Amino acid sequence: MSRPVAVVTGASSGIGAATARALAADGFHVVLAARRMARLTALAAEVDGTPVECDVTSDESVAALAAAVAGMDVRVLVNNAGGAFGADYVENADLDGWRAMYEVNVLGAVRVTKALVPALVSSGAGTIVWVSSTAGLIVYEGGGGYAAAKHAETAVAETMRLELSGRPVRVIEIDPGMVKTDEFSLNRFGGDAEAADKVYAGVAEPLTAEDVADTIAWTVSRPHHVNVDRLVLRPLAQAAQHKVHRVL
Ligand code: NDP
Repeated sequence: MSRPVAVVTGASSGIGAATARALAADGFHVVLAARRMARLTALAAEVDGTPVECDVTSDESVAALAAAVAGMDVRVLVNNAGGAFGADYVENADLDGWRAMYEVNVLGAVRVTKALVPALVSSGAGTIVWVSSTAGLIVYEGGGGYAAAKHAETAVAETMRLELSGRPVRVIEIDPGMVKTDEFSLNRFGGDAEAADKVYAGVAEPLTAEDVADTIAWTVSRPHHVNVDRLVLRPLAQAAQHKVHRVL
């Protein structure tokens, strides 16, 4: 295989799927990892990539992902698998939801990273992209569990950049604001479509998965000595976390 390899977690929908398409268009052989294999298989056929069923919260599953890419020229890892579950206030925190957010957004990404760092280092020009969130930089009411997990994810990305100093691996953190993807908000609100839609009500143009993917692909395509440490992107209608222009 002559193309360099990019592993994208959470490639079965939203930002991950769009990132897989963008990186494939930039010449990568993309390894698509997530739990829903049927979706991965369809996307892999579209982008000439490799689908790998992977639950990032499972040691065995991530070991299988590492085995699937063994011997490949893995240059890029996009830690994108994640999400929000619930919008409860701290005083009413659903601890199972909070634990699940930590498991997938933080420990899941760390688990995959641990497994792939040796390959990224030996590639001589590795890149790890952490898809965190503006919720990793600022908090909002009802966002405690998600913000806590994303703050932790951001802290891990920053830590890794220091720890990898002197080795040939960039660490890039992408922090999107409001992105309208098909499933993120639905998952957050347990399948309640009305609650999910309300998040975007009256917002002219929330970011799309493709907007974020385009940004990720841009950071990855910089010369390898250029490290975009952190990139925050929001829709024009979201001047700040709490200042969203809505026409209702
Ligand atoms: P989606 O819900 O569309 O995608 C989440 C992806 O993560 C899916 O492909 C899902 O695949 C995968 N995933 C979830 N749990 C696991 C798991 N245990 N193992 C492997 N894969 C898993 O959300 P988005 O595309 O909107 O979000 C992608 C990332 O961007 C997330 O980290 C999210 O926190 C972040 N983000 C999103 C924003 C938004 O407003 N949408 C804003 C800022 C950041 P499957 O179910 O098949 O396993």
